[in-house]
Amino acid sequence: MMQHTTALVTGANKGIGRETARRLAALGMTVLVGARDRERGESAVAGLRAGSPDVHLVILDVADEASIARAAADVTARFGRLDVLVNNAAISAGSGPPSTQSVAAMRELFATNVFGLVAVTQAFLPLLERSPAARIVNVSSSLGSLELAADPDDVNARQGGPLFSYAASKTVVNAFTVRLANELRAKNIKVNSACPGYVATDLNKHRGVRTVQQGAEIIVRLATLADDGPTAGFFDDAGPVRW
Ligand code: NAP
Repeated sequence: MMQHTTALVTGANKGIGRETARRLAALGMTVLVGARDRERGESAVAGLRAGSPDVHLVILDVADEASIARAAADVTARFGRLDVLVNNAAISAGSGPPSTQSVAAMRELFATNVFGLVAVTQAFLPLLERSPAARIVNVSSSLGSLELAADPDDVNARQGGPLFSYAASKTVVNAFTVRLANELRAKNIKVNSACPGYVATDLNKHRGVRTVQQGAEIIVRLATLADDGPTAGFFDDAGPVRW
């Protein structure tokens, strides 16, 4: 599919999102850096432009419906197309163990990780539908896997416990991936979930053991899938992840 393509990465001002934006721009794509904060966004874009000039800021707070509508109108007016959407923006703050999870904090987390992701996708779908081969990558986590969480021998069963809302938000993201992929199959729009692995970023106070380069690898692969590539899948860079 490597004709000239335009990609939007949400939450691309730092972390795995910024590295994904850098990689997609290096492949020759027009890259739209989604950022909720103008200053942080401008600073990321300035850094990325040093490597690839075709990088542009789109102000987008995924937890704010008005911001999403403005961003979709902005991208339509300035670029008129979208071929790749990487739903990367997410938070983990406020996630606790299931027995004591604050429901208010859970609502807030879901507002970004789940409802924001769904709303962004819906808002940009009309543009993606104009592309001959659009790709949507939902950045998920193996913590969202119910199969792994139910396996007492798996490390996720232990790690996912204290992060209930975060893990559950990624389970819902995976549900959206599969259902949306099925809905869009006939339109040659592929929708997959990516697990970047445990990456050292602000999200986990840099406790992660992988680099952002390693984390972005599977996202870039799924964003650039050929027409015979998979859809409705969940992958890390070693292959399929159990649901
Ligand atoms: P990060 O460094 O904290 O970056 C998160 C990005 O999301 C930031 O740019 C942040 O912007 C943005 N964001 C948060 N809320 C937003 C909102 N309402 N609107 C727009 N942008 C928003 O985290 P990361 O580790 O790179 O995470 C990227 C993705 O990978 C997430 O989906 C995360 O769940 C997933 N993931 C990460 C790991 C890991 O080990 N790091 C593992 C599995 C999955 P601000 O700078 O404005 O806050």
